[in-house]
Amino acid sequence: MFKKILIANRGEIACRIIRTAHDMGIGTVAVYSDADRDALHVSMADEAVNIGPPASAESYLRIEKIVKACKDTGADAVHPGYGFLSENAAFAKALDKEGIAFIGPNVRAIEVMGDKIASKAFAEKAKVNTVPGSAEEIETADDAVRVAMDIGLPVMIKASAGGGGKGMRVAHSKDEVGERFALARSEARASFGDDRIFIEKFIVQPRHIEIQVLGDGQGNVIHLAERECSIQRRNQKVIEEAPSSFLDAKTRKSMGEQAVALAKAVEYRSAGTVEFIVDKDRNFYFLEMNTRLQVEHPVTELITGVDLVEQMIRIASGEKLKLKQDEIKITGWAIESRIYAEDPYRSFLPSTGRLVRYQPPVEGSRHCLTIRNDTGVYEGGEISIYYDPMIAKLVTHGPDRESATTHMIQALDAFYIEGIGHNIPFLSAVMGHERWLSGDISTGFIAEEFPDGFLGVAPDEATNRLLGAVAASMDHLSNSRRRAISGQMGGKQVNFSENRVVVVGDYRARMTITREPDVLLITFADNDDSVDGFEIISDWVPGDPVWTGTVNSEPVAVQVNNVLNGYRLLHRGIDVEAHTYTEREAELQLLMPYKEPPDTSGQLLCPMPGLVVSIAVETGQAVKTGQTLCVVEAMKMENVLKAERDCVIAAILAEPGEKLAVDQIIMEFEKSIG
Ligand code: ADP
Ligand code: ADP
Ligand code: MG
Repeated sequence: MFKKILIANRGEIACRIIRTAHDMGIGTVAVYSDADRDALHVSMADEAVNIGPPASAESYLRIEKIVKACKDTGADAVHPGYGFLSENAAFAKALDKEGIAFIGPNVRAIEVMGDKIASKAFAEKAKVNTVPGSAEEIETADDAVRVAMDIGLPVMIKASAGGGGKGMRVAHSKDEVGERFALARSEARASFGDDRIFIEKFIVQPRHIEIQVLGDGQGNVIHLAERECSIQRRNQKVIEEAPSSFLDAKTRKSMGEQAVALAKAVEYRSAGTVEFIVDKDRNFYFLEMNTRLQVEHPVTELITGVDLVEQMIRIASGEKLKLKQDEIKITGWAIESRIYAEDPYRSFLPSTGRLVRYQPPVEGSRHCLTIRNDTGVYEGGEISIYYDPMIAKLVTHGPDRESATTHMIQALDAFYIEGIGHNIPFLSAVMGHERWLSGDISTGFIAEEFPDGFLGVAPDEATNRLLGAVAASMDHLSNSRRRAISGQMGGKQVNFSENRVVVVGDYRARMTITREPDVLLITFADNDDSVDGFEIISDWVPGDPVWTGTVNSEPVAVQVNNVLNGYRLLHRGIDVEAHTYTEREAELQLLMPYKEPPDTSGQLLCPMPGLVVSIAVETGQAVKTGQTLCVVEAMKMENVLKAERDCVIAAILAEPGEKLAVDQIIMEFEKSIG
């Protein structure tokens, strides 16, 4: 077995790998860029080596620096995680040359599977179902149109070197084929330095279902069932689950068999994933094979009990695979939510900055329910513009899909992050969506259900009452503490009852609060039926950012931020202010003038902290709706800011190369006449 493993990665996956290495009694070496000096993976590892400037191209992607770090520290093996050098054959070869083990697949598997055209041709030969369409490079727009017509519209135009959901375009008409072929090609050239393109049938309303495999390179290959990753935004995964609610035993078996056959055909060693796209009739087609540990591997670990990183390490050290296919059993259901530093209310633009508060739900297992949170951040740490914007992967496991979902909803409610924008409200909205609950999902789910982006969740009457009751209970507690401190009641617990008016967003209701030992009873007036009584038990104290307790014996978590005379509450994707008034205060409150927020429609504000790449307009220029105004780079992504209406540029206040803060004014428009 290895003595010391170097982890050629950062963030949550580096931390994840270090944990298993330590459990196995193996030493660990972290590598870090200048931006990651204080990162969690650095403090978790036994040793750490600086490998240069923040840009990955100068640090995490530099093969010679990683090899040198291995030699300097005496590491005898490298785990590459995912992304960065994980699917880089030259890296595996460079390590091999130095006698350092690569905790990943054989070079041939990386090479064949790293290229979508080559892997598709290979899969066809291995008798794996592939998406209709040719596995051949298309060189001209005319050829693209001809091939697309042969396949039948709609088609998917794909970059052979593509990854991370980039370099692919759907075309529904002849004209679109030509146009999008050119787009896909230039995006592929810019992103991957390789512009080879191929075309396949676009499978309509499909589901993405993938099979985890493990091979030892000594003839033994097994699969660990499937993961479904159909909840995607722009072809990138957002929520994953295992098993899939769509597969029957027969389809699961034949997908598993094809995945194993493919892995055997390339003499696969290590953990890998065979991705399939599945149509409405459960026909499945090979998409690609990822020759690495996947982001969403925890859901498989939770339903099978197998530590995939441990298996990868054992296999790389030369051990035979000890697990047998018939020992792999699926237990319960697991769901993973990817928590990203992005602002769901502003078309998911990346968000950077300091995690002023970071309080994830408590990990562990109780009553057959598990919470696991894989993360690489900590309170006070920074999310920089240089890397992947992932904050954490929140995973829940329960006996069935429903319990795993309920547990996820509660865990998201309890996950408190302050200081940067994050997608937790959006994840809550998906988890509470009726299509998710019924299992009626496809890769088009987010585009179909959130066509205008995420606008927040509107609370229904029952939730307004729940939030009103929680707000009133917090207000009551704060007031009674204040009274106790000032000696008004001599600090004694007194049973009493009071009338209040609670305002939650636009919702207003009168209620009675009654205090009994250990429990608060809240009943709403103006109520036809009597079911709307709330029995509240909580040990929340003012200042806690998350209110947790039980309401009518059901566990509830609500995030709390103080605002003037009230609270801002976040719960299940709802973001709302709540105020509790005495009846007299409530009458007066209705007379208060409403303060208009400042009008910023005449300005282009920078939506996230970033760097101005280019400005596409000039002062005095008239622009049309949708026209590009400027490009701002953040989190390695170029964000094109476009005109939201026809207007004339009055002034430009930023220039290329300038670093901007969020909401900084980039340009001003002339006031329109209409
Ligand atoms: P996985 O396939 O493991 O579920 P993803 O599909 O999210 O993970 O990402 C695939 C790989 O691409 C990962 O290794 C990830 O680090 C990388 N990646 C993610 N986002 C991007 C991006 N915008 N551009 C290039 N690569 C990316
Ligand atoms: P990447 O390397 O970026 O992960 P994939 O080939 O795995 O690329 O595709 C990513 C996603 O794009 C899939 O999960 C699916 O949602 C969508 N996709 C890819 N090919 C097709 C297709 N032929 N038909 C429909 N959707 C597709
Ligand atoms: Mg893929």
